Amino acid sequence: MSVRTRIAPSPTGEFHVGGLRTLLFNYAWAKKNNGQFLIRIEDTDRNRFVDGATNRILEVIKEYGLDWDEGPVKGGDCGPYIQSERLNIYREYIQRLLESKNAYYCFCTPERLDKLREQYSSENKTFKYDRHCLSLNDFEINNRIDSGVKYVIRLLVPEDELVTYEDVVLGEISVPSKEIDDQVLMKSDGYPTYHFAVVVDDYLMKITHVLRGVEWLPSTPKHILLYKFFGFPLPKFGHLPNLKNLGSSKKMSKRDGSVFAIDFLKEGYLPEAMLNFLMFLGWNPGTEKEIYSLDEFIQDFDLSKIHQTDLVSFNKEKLDWFNNQYLWKLTNEEFLERLKYWSHRFNTPCLIQDLSEIYSHLQLLKIISLIKERITVFSDFDKSVDYFINSPQVDSLVLGKYSNDPKKVLEFFYELISSQSDFSFEKLDPLLHNTVKENGFSMKEYFMTLRIALTGETVTPPIIDIICVLGKDITLIRIKSALQNF
Ligand code: GLU
Repeated sequence: MSVRTRIAPSPTGEFHVGGLRTLLFNYAWAKKNNGQFLIRIEDTDRNRFVDGATNRILEVIKEYGLDWDEGPVKGGDCGPYIQSERLNIYREYIQRLLESKNAYYCFCTPERLDKLREQYSSENKTFKYDRHCLSLNDFEINNRIDSGVKYVIRLLVPEDELVTYEDVVLGEISVPSKEIDDQVLMKSDGYPTYHFAVVVDDYLMKITHVLRGVEWLPSTPKHILLYKFFGFPLPKFGHLPNLKNLGSSKKMSKRDGSVFAIDFLKEGYLPEAMLNFLMFLGWNPGTEKEIYSLDEFIQDFDLSKIHQTDLVSFNKEKLDWFNNQYLWKLTNEEFLERLKYWSHRFNTPCLIQDLSEIYSHLQLLKIISLIKERITVFSDFDKSVDYFINSPQVDSLVLGKYSNDPKKVLEFFYELISSQSDFSFEKLDPLLHNTVKENGFSMKEYFMTLRIALTGETVTPPIIDIICVLGKDITLIRIKSALQNF
């Protein structure tokens, strides 16, 4: 039997970065086994449904360079892959459970249930439905249905049974059935609940491995009971650690900053760096190797190496490290392409446009080569290139930071390069170095004063490279303007 995995996002908002990690593990496991990876949209909670969210979830997955074998848009033999389009299927399956007496009608009003909940909470007990409606006979049930009383259908959890299964990550899990509530399976609006639909669909879609966040662990025993009542073969279940921020003891939430997969792309992280970072959130190959392409990950991924823990740290510094590794590997040409794509795709104003109007393609590549190592994410780009566009505002105090006579340094340099026609690095580099010594300036005094006058900064790439890019005219204008301080 071919391995089939899936993710089943609910379109209640943007795709969470934790969902992307879960996708990655499911994807890798399917591909490693030459199986299929599916996407199913679980949109049965109509109160939390967000219009357009399904498309955005699918788009961001593609933006990360990932794809699915069956699912929305793509289709496949087990469709439809959107739960709201499968309501007739759920109706058929709930009928089976009613007939086998593993489920029952419940006509309790929300008011009655609220009271019951209050009572449980005042006694410090976890809520469990009291089976008020279980004793109704067929006549009473039909009567109520015919007269339009609203109802739900509940799972009839066996009284005294141990629900046991082998979690592929966590090992054996056993839960006494008396701890399990008679879960609502069909809601009064005619939609199934998650618990019911997930079981029917995972079965019909021939899912062999259900790898999902550990927050679903308490739900699994309910699902196991349903599998048993239907007589469906059990898939393998594995519960993956959730993500938390460094130093926190809770699952990452919106209050802590970016949590949506799209946010990181907007900030200017490279998708492949993000994926590489996410691979390590709950998995480790057990070697020193950290840089992983998707194909390498598929090769090395194994369920037995998934961490048995509730939470793993989302360490942004480590993410930055990964992004740096990937940015540095890009050629200047690739960097330029990716930066332009990023700015265009996310509608982010970026100085690359302004630079393109001033400098030639070759000069742009030179600028990139100079600043590339200083950039962690594309959104850092502007602050690293500002002085290639804007003349700095400097005063005599800053100019005098490294020299007792900055005026003399600047005047000397101005004279020296006024007569230079060749502004290549090969020409300027020896010229400046030789004449500095001849004139009794120290290297630091000379180059730092020029750096401040030309860029307004004290930390930049090598100043002679910058002078070559700025060119003779701009360089002379900036020196002249700095000299006006004296
Ligand atoms: N619809 C659930 C979610 O939003 C799917 C959980 C599962 O994978 O079973 O994450």
